[in-house]
Amino acid sequence: MKPKRRSPLYELQNREDKNGICAMCKEYNLLTVDHIFPASLLHVWGLKEYGWEDETNLQLICKKCQMLKGANFDFHNPKTIPLIEKYIEILKQLEDIRHKIDIDNMKKVKDLLEPQ
Ligand SMILES: [Zn+2]
Repeated sequence: MKPKRRSPLYELQNREDKNGICAMCKEYNLLTVDHIFPASLLHVWGLKEYGWEDETNLQLICKKCQMLKGANFDFHNPKTIPLIEKYIEILKQLEDIRHKIDIDNMKKVKDLLEPQ
């Protein structure tokens, strides 16, 4: 049997004691794991594999705050803008890779079309 993967997300989701200080309202409460850069937007941006388990994108907040935050950015959180910048940078890099693959493919097609 494979050992269970111990990701930061898994660790947070499975902690014994889920009571603590909410990262948003700063009140002592029952906490839940939240993606600072919203999980649904990670999906829309095609970045789920980069942001879902990203430790820097995780915080513990109470259910009330999570309901209020929903799938929106919380610009009161100083981590929000750096995370947006980080994921935009990843998107750019992915775009560069796609562009390079396109150029390589074009070269291959050109080579095929041009008799040696
Ligand atoms: Zn809260």
